[in-house]
Amino acid sequence: MKVPALTIDVKKIEHNTKTMVEMCGNLGIKVAAVTKGYCAIPEIAEASVRGGVHMIADSRIENLMKLKHIDIPKMLLRLPMISQADDVVEYADISLNSEYKTITALSQKALEKNKIHKIILMVDIGDLREGVWNTKAVPYVKEILNLKGVELMGIGTNLTCYGGVLPSVENLELLSNIAKEIEEVYHIRLQIVSGGNSSSVYLVQNGQIPNTVNHLRFGEAILFGTEFAYGQRIENTYGDAFKLYAEVVELKEKPSVPIGEIGLDAFGEKPTFVDRGVRKRAILGIGKQDVRIENIKPTDRQIIVIGASSDHLIIDITDSKKQYDIGDIVEFDIHYTAMLTAMTSEYVQKIIID
Ligand SMILES: *Cc1c(COP(=O)(O)O)cnc(C)c1O
Repeated sequence: MKVPALTIDVKKIEHNTKTMVEMCGNLGIKVAAVTKGYCAIPEIAEASVRGGVHMIADSRIENLMKLKHIDIPKMLLRLPMISQADDVVEYADISLNSEYKTITALSQKALEKNKIHKIILMVDIGDLREGVWNTKAVPYVKEILNLKGVELMGIGTNLTCYGGVLPSVENLELLSNIAKEIEEVYHIRLQIVSGGNSSSVYLVQNGQIPNTVNHLRFGEAILFGTEFAYGQRIENTYGDAFKLYAEVVELKEKPSVPIGEIGLDAFGEKPTFVDRGVRKRAILGIGKQDVRIENIKPTDRQIIVIGASSDHLIIDITDSKKQYDIGDIVEFDIHYTAMLTAMTSEYVQKIIID
């Protein structure tokens, strides 16, 4: 194996997807698989399609382009850039929107292409990232309905992203009521009420999600089998579909506290140290340019990650039962933000296991 490497077990992703699709299906909720965390690698997205999702969703149009061969609806999650309107209409069937000016541009592009582009109007119910403020959502719909190239497919919201606001019965009821009011005021049917991301899983598990909500968008829950509100593991899912590997390039016994006056580390921060005496340390050929090290954990639990610079990761192997040698490979469990960063590093090999 060429290292550093990130392996992805797509059978586990397929299994996790099935678990989520079934759990939500029982409540009449359809699932979109969010592919942005792994830069929309087609083999991984295809595993979620086999797992039964109704849609694929990504925040970047470049990623949806990579998936154009997959024949299920594709949703653009980040509000479209007006400069990308042409590609959005070409490669996304649905996009999340909150700006009339952008929706107008999408409508024009769609008409030029003889298409109808579907939009979900995002409503802010408190997290303060994207969306029309909830009290203004109903009147905002009026002008959208006059545009010939777009169809208002529904409304949606996003939570636990900027403000950390958790989904609740109250705030999702607010979203539901806005959906009902839009239907009454304009005499239309909304196909989708999209109630959030992996932080909404606990409401599904408790059967508390308002029944107007019929769509959720999952990245983390599918990829790591964790819900995002409280960080709990989801039953009948794998948490180890992704693994990271790096190679030992130095092995030395050294004190645990540096010698000399301490300035700043390679990232401009003042480092702190725990004095464990003289320890056996290894340097691995991976660093902060490749992966968010706060989010990785050696599968050999006797190893301690002690720090990193851009391209060196230092670990303490004193307590490990294994005798490490130069050239050995060390394995790590990772979580979402480590996956996100490693996926974007061109120095980390991505290896699909099936
Ligand atoms: C990233 C994203 C998601 C998926 O979030 P997870 O917590 O990984 O489930 C859902 N919706 C939007 C709008 C997003 O940007």
